[in-house]
Amino acid sequence: MLRFKRFASQYNQAKLLRKYPVGGVFHGYEINRVLPVPEMKFVAVDLKHLQTGSQHLHIDRDDKNNVFSIAFKTNPPDSTGVAHILEHTTLCGSQKYPVRDPFFKMLNRSLANFMNAMTGHDYTFYPFATANKVDFSNLRDVYLDATLNPLLNHQDFLQEGWRLEQSNLDDANSDVIFKGVVYNEMKGQVSSSNYQFWTKFQESIYPSLNNSGGDPQKITDLQYSDLLSFHSKNYHPSNSKTFTYGNFPLEDTLHRLNEEFKLHGKRTISKQVLNPLSFDSDVRVVQKGQVDPMLPTEKQMKTSMTWLCGDPSNVYDTFVLRVLGNLLMEGHSSPFYQELIESGIGYEFAVNSGVDSTTAANFFTVGVQGCDDSSKFEHVVKSVLEDTLTKPFEGNKIEAIIQQLELSKKNQKADFGLQLLYSLVPGWTNTTDPFDNLVFDDILAQFRSDWNEKGDDIFRDVIRKYILEKPCFYFSMEADPNFSKALEVEEAKRLSQKISQLDESDKTTLRNRGLQLQEKQNATEDLSCLPSLMIDDIPRKGDFYRTVLKANVSHRITDTNGITYLRAKRSLNNAIPRDLYPYLPIFADCLTSLGTSKENFSQIEDEMKLHTGGVTTNVSVCSDAITSEPRLFFSFEGYALNHKTEHVFDIWRKLLVETDISKHSEKIKILIRSLASSNTASVAESGHSFARNYAGAHLTASRAINESLNGIEQLQLITHLSSILDNPTLFQSEVVDKLNELKNYVIAQDKLEFFITTDTDKQVTKVESQVRNFTQNLPEGSKACSFSAEHYPTIISEDKPTLIEFPFQVHYTAQSSMGVPYSHVDGASLQVLSNMLTFKYLHREVREKGGAYGGGATYSALDGLLSFYSYRDPHPLNSLDVFSGSGKYVMDKAEWSTSDLDEAKLTIFQQVDAPISPSSEGTSQFHFGISDEMRQKRREQLLDVRLKDVRSAAEKYIIGRKSVSAVVGPRLDSMSDSSWKFRELQ
Ligand SMILES: [Zn+2]
Repeated sequence: MLRFKRFASQYNQAKLLRKYPVGGVFHGYEINRVLPVPEMKFVAVDLKHLQTGSQHLHIDRDDKNNVFSIAFKTNPPDSTGVAHILEHTTLCGSQKYPVRDPFFKMLNRSLANFMNAMTGHDYTFYPFATANKVDFSNLRDVYLDATLNPLLNHQDFLQEGWRLEQSNLDDANSDVIFKGVVYNEMKGQVSSSNYQFWTKFQESIYPSLNNSGGDPQKITDLQYSDLLSFHSKNYHPSNSKTFTYGNFPLEDTLHRLNEEFKLHGKRTISKQVLNPLSFDSDVRVVQKGQVDPMLPTEKQMKTSMTWLCGDPSNVYDTFVLRVLGNLLMEGHSSPFYQELIESGIGYEFAVNSGVDSTTAANFFTVGVQGCDDSSKFEHVVKSVLEDTLTKPFEGNKIEAIIQQLELSKKNQKADFGLQLLYSLVPGWTNTTDPFDNLVFDDILAQFRSDWNEKGDDIFRDVIRKYILEKPCFYFSMEADPNFSKALEVEEAKRLSQKISQLDESDKTTLRNRGLQLQEKQNATEDLSCLPSLMIDDIPRKGDFYRTVLKANVSHRITDTNGITYLRAKRSLNNAIPRDLYPYLPIFADCLTSLGTSKENFSQIEDEMKLHTGGVTTNVSVCSDAITSEPRLFFSFEGYALNHKTEHVFDIWRKLLVETDISKHSEKIKILIRSLASSNTASVAESGHSFARNYAGAHLTASRAINESLNGIEQLQLITHLSSILDNPTLFQSEVVDKLNELKNYVIAQDKLEFFITTDTDKQVTKVESQVRNFTQNLPEGSKACSFSAEHYPTIISEDKPTLIEFPFQVHYTAQSSMGVPYSHVDGASLQVLSNMLTFKYLHREVREKGGAYGGGATYSALDGLLSFYSYRDPHPLNSLDVFSGSGKYVMDKAEWSTSDLDEAKLTIFQQVDAPISPSSEGTSQFHFGISDEMRQKRREQLLDVRLKDVRSAAEKYIIGRKSVSAVVGPRLDSMSDSSWKFRELQ
């Protein structure tokens, strides 16, 4: 089928090279170097802006998902978070676009599938991705003006950074507190003990980087003038690196960059590279951290050992170091996994483990969490490293790593350009030449030849040179039951100190300032200066992905670059007894971690890495697109090069049929401990999702099932199970027996469905016969069960909000009510409504005024759940009130125009039309039963929604329906027993 050769035929290297003559000057830019990278089908062009010295990297590739980025080197002078607060405030208005928050405003005037700004250790960058050419030039303009000509108003500093303000502006006597978006964002980060461990480690080993995000205790030292001078020092074209990727013409961008850059003159920029601590002998640092309420008291320690291993600008050595890290730490057969995790020294690797090359130095770190004895840990780490000098590295493991790298080059991703940018920026803003990082095949070829010639010595040399007998940085964090309290006390002290310095006139100023800020936040603005796409830029007809269904196997033929993707699922709707539901996720995890009666899992894992791109198993629930009834599935997936698909089936068979739960019961303990060790961190990361799901579990069976599979109920089960692992009787009856029982319900050859994505008919025929063979090897039928997922009980509602108590510094909230199934016409109006509420109301009320890091409304199209949420919220009760009042706001106050409506639709279509990878095409039919025709109908309904539909949706589904609220975070004094329900964790 020739038409699928599109990709290959359009990579014409000679033609591309003619397009970019070295030495050629275009719009003030000179082409310095050109690098063809045929294995990835692109040409890289390195250009320099002659006047300012700014470097531009262009990746010319036949990909419509174009990317632009501007990056600055921003060495943080202290821990006040100045780089981070600047990143926020640049987006609050610029000379050409003097409106409040043009960045957020652009979110709904564009079809970009990605827009963001990020502060790294010592750099800040502003990337976006879009497939629309007009959009690309609009956003490029906004990004350039935002970074180079921002207004940086004092009010923006107060809003985004920090300020003192009355907790309630309507009450002149209310307490004065700290507010500010970044202030609360970083307080929220501290709630995560993993984040806390990672930042404190980073601050200790790399003091010169300070804490670029900002330490809440130091943020309130930052002055407005510091922000202005930090901008003028760093945000200059001479200190910038710009990047474009995709198929849009480079010249347009060069022209626009030159126009802007030439207004700024040239600057001599300090090339200062920040280096980590230098140490000639071992260094030990011990810090205090948060207690994890879901882990036993004696297992609260996190501890790690780190060695400095050269610097990332030596790209090849860094690659070898990464391979070594992979061999020692990745997967069940790796020595560190076996000696540290399987042996029970730690529950899981610590978050800083592995090779980190995102700064000016390479770190090699081994660490564990869930540990009680750091000296034992240290002893084992050293002996594993010593063993590497005598024990051979297995050749097939190295071959497997090479195979994985080769396969990942062929596996096409929709966000390839962005991923490439992320991999280049940290090194590029320091001293690494980005071209060195682009020659994938050269690096691999050199590695192969070194490996053939020197064998294990290439790794042993690294270990001798940097690690064994070399000074080591030991970092540990011990849980302190008073940690949260101490932070609160410190904040109260800092606050009262600040307040004590205020005289009466200061207090008046402070109050007026707060009121002015509020007034500005409430004001309606003229946004006509901002560019915008039009609603007509959205095509009425969406993409169709033709799939063919034969019996229980459907397939899609597309340009997969020689890879076949395999998906399978089995309906569990009438298959699982009620009491076994919560065990399904552990069961699915067991299949990909235990092993069979003949093989350990590490052997299966080796086969997986050597011959496939990976095999996964999962249990999930969704709602039926027409009836909203729950659909519970066990699914398993995998992919491989076309000629290697039989390995995926072979591995599936081993995992599903041959996994021996009783024989490998010790490994179940390791699995449960590792899950338990990340429970609290996952709530701190996405507490709003937990709150939303918990609220939804009162409303639908799907959400109630999801609560038991992935919600608080699941976390509790894991915590409970991890507490009985040392009791052989309980472990047998509550874990091993249940998982063995589940196997009889889950694995069978009936009710199976398959989906094949590949590139030729011939391959389809081959794989179809492999499917038949595979199916025959499964048990004929499963154990009978009379319980149906449709009868899964929802949580009983008591008309009170629920608090799920966690020892965080901030809260996460959710309030949910029921909408309609996917196929219902009102679904489109609800989707538009949730979007308009987010951008036209909640962003202002919850983020700008309330100080929460995020907040909005979401509509889950498939299960019909309309939800409000806030993220890292200092005023959860206020947010719940805002949510409750939002229906009335729409009916009585909102003055929404058709252009507001169009903006909401543009925002929705950013995701609807975001480019997807070939492997994802047609999967919504397979996973959710949503056909192309249903998607097309929904598309038209979305485009046709009118303002009055939005209003009537608000009336019908917010005002007219009962909602349920849930909050995650610490208990507040104002939460009384009579008006709140408290969900215990133990
Ligand atoms: Zn931020």
